[in-house]
Amino acid sequence: MKKVYLSALALLGSAASLFAQDAQMRKAPDQSPVQQATPGRACATMEVFESQLAADPARAQRMEAIEAQTRRYLAQPTMLQRSTTDGTTTITIPVVVHVVYNTAAQNVPQAQVEDQIRVLNEDFAKMNSDVNNVPSLYAGVASATNVRFVLATRNPSGGVTNGVVRVQTKTRSFSSNDFVKYTNKGGSNAWPRDKYLNIWLCNLGQGLLGYAQFPGGAAATDGVVCLYSSVPGGTASNYNLGRTATHEVGHWLNLRHIWGDATCGNDFVADTPTQQTSNGGCPTFPKITCNNQGDMSMNYMDYTYDQCMYMFTAGQSSRMDALFAVGGARELLKSSDGAKAQRQMAVVPMSLYPNPASDVLNLEIKGKARSNYAISVYDLRGQQMTQARYDGDGHVQVASLPKGLYYIRIANGTEVTHQRFEKE
Ligand code: ZN
Ligand code: CA
Repeated sequence: MKKVYLSALALLGSAASLFAQDAQMRKAPDQSPVQQATPGRACATMEVFESQLAADPARAQRMEAIEAQTRRYLAQPTMLQRSTTDGTTTITIPVVVHVVYNTAAQNVPQAQVEDQIRVLNEDFAKMNSDVNNVPSLYAGVASATNVRFVLATRNPSGGVTNGVVRVQTKTRSFSSNDFVKYTNKGGSNAWPRDKYLNIWLCNLGQGLLGYAQFPGGAAATDGVVCLYSSVPGGTASNYNLGRTATHEVGHWLNLRHIWGDATCGNDFVADTPTQQTSNGGCPTFPKITCNNQGDMSMNYMDYTYDQCMYMFTAGQSSRMDALFAVGGARELLKSSDGAKAQRQMAVVPMSLYPNPASDVLNLEIKGKARSNYAISVYDLRGQQMTQARYDGDGHVQVASLPKGLYYIRIANGTEVTHQRFEKE
């Protein structure tokens, strides 16, 4: 395997020099995760990446192009162009969770899936309750990221979804061979990666906790796979707070292991210290290696127990941001409609009078605070009428509307009603 891998690299030439340099420093590709020098988290992301490189020389060129775009972005981190209208600076990614189960215990309930999304959001927002454990040496670089997650509400064909696909399988245990990502191999096909983050939960053999595909890989296998019992409240002891997903989604957003997968290796992040190798369990700080001031073993991209990892850095966050900048590998996710309003809306219990109205249309919303509703008026062709104004207290000024028939739309995020009225 190594021979094939090295000859594939030889084809790359100088265009991929930084990448090749990194590859030379990396540990042997046939070293399985359970043979790590330091016991700990078993993540097959690098092994999967290396077999992709071996199978397809163009894979390395795509990765180098992503690295080049990332370096350009970091040299001039322009404001990300966002499509949000609410003024937030975060990117919210619709998520589909494929629960691929052989036994009832592997059929992770909806509540636990939702808890996993909550943990992802807390960790990526630096809202995790254990962030105070970050040593003071690294408190200054510990950072929220700009990425958030929400279970999909709209499936690829536009229908309603709760964001979870359940597939019963005859496969007792998957490996990092990606079979879990194909319906015809006992798994569940990926949803389009331009709109969704695909997370597969399944049983994994060989002590594997999970693996991810870096940006630049095939669409059919894009996403992350996590051991079903690694979700919050799962049965994987020391790895059941949901941090396997945090770590793997970190890879999916182009983060490397913090030790750079080599002795004193490079993770392409300036504010993470160089460290000798992975850490497992719960290390005592500081553990000084490679002339650093202490390994950042509490970073999500190390191999420690769930309860002993609780930070990303600002530099890691910037690396993620580059993917969403213009020309970034995951830019299209910014305009995904995968979480847009396909939820079933309740009907607002309301009436309006007088109808027809000449100056003011009064809204009567039963038992609800009227100010919580957004009101808009449309003509029969669906054109929004800016002449109609709502005062937030049950009165819509319609005096400057031309005479005719209109629809009024009343919504608050969970309820919506359309009613017809006449302006006279
Ligand atoms: Zn990993
Ligand atoms: Ca570093």
